[in-house]
Amino acid sequence: MTFHDQAQLVKKEVAQALTQGSQAAEKCDIIAVTKYVDARTTRKLVEETGFHHLGENRVPQFLAKKEELGDLSIRWHFIGSLQRRKVKDVINQIDYFHALDSISLAREIQKRADQPIACFLQVNLSREESKHGFFLEDVDQALEEIADLDKIRLIGLMTMAPADASPSEIEDLFSRTRVLQEALAERNIPGMPFTELSMGMSSDYQLAVEQGATFVRIGSLLFE
Ligand SMILES: *Cc1c(COP(=O)(O)O)cnc(C)c1O
Repeated sequence: MTFHDQAQLVKKEVAQALTQGSQAAEKCDIIAVTKYVDARTTRKLVEETGFHHLGENRVPQFLAKKEELGDLSIRWHFIGSLQRRKVKDVINQIDYFHALDSISLAREIQKRADQPIACFLQVNLSREESKHGFFLEDVDQALEEIADLDKIRLIGLMTMAPADASPSEIEDLFSRTRVLQEALAERNIPGMPFTELSMGMSSDYQLAVEQGATFVRIGSLLFE
């Protein structure tokens, strides 16, 4: 299949999940995760599919790619965990940061960002040890500390399902994440609109869209 065909398939599935899911959002943007491919292939993908939200998770590869694709109109999402010492290299080069998973990282962003950065608070409601993200009981404390940081704009929550979870476990996790996102949005905290929900990857994006995702992050499905 070509990129065009593969993208059409994903777009169709997302559209279907948006109409079928009783908890689905009004719309859901597809982030094409291009961490697996070089700049040339990324360019081809963008030109063939019209995808303009791209996700990367490695700092040097992202920076090189962004420079090489400077003529394209792309919204860059940094989706991987970010080491504090690399914040200064990347934070003013991206449109969205999906992996805000500690207070120390938030403080470093505050120090290095030239303007407010659209961030997703990463949460780990499945409490999986190997995953990054705040546990439910730590979210309030995190918000209290981040409230003082005017360079952090918390636009939503991000989560990842455990690799070995069953569909019903994944559905439950996505549902609980949406319930938390909605509760946070209702608080109307300044600088923390919490209108977005970043969840769902190649193996579980339909479930995520049905459960309210506003961004899905899809990589391998586009490149296999
Ligand atoms: C790689 C990656 C994705 C995409 O995963 P696929 O299974 O290849 O679709 C999504 N989110 C994050 C955080 C990733 O690192």
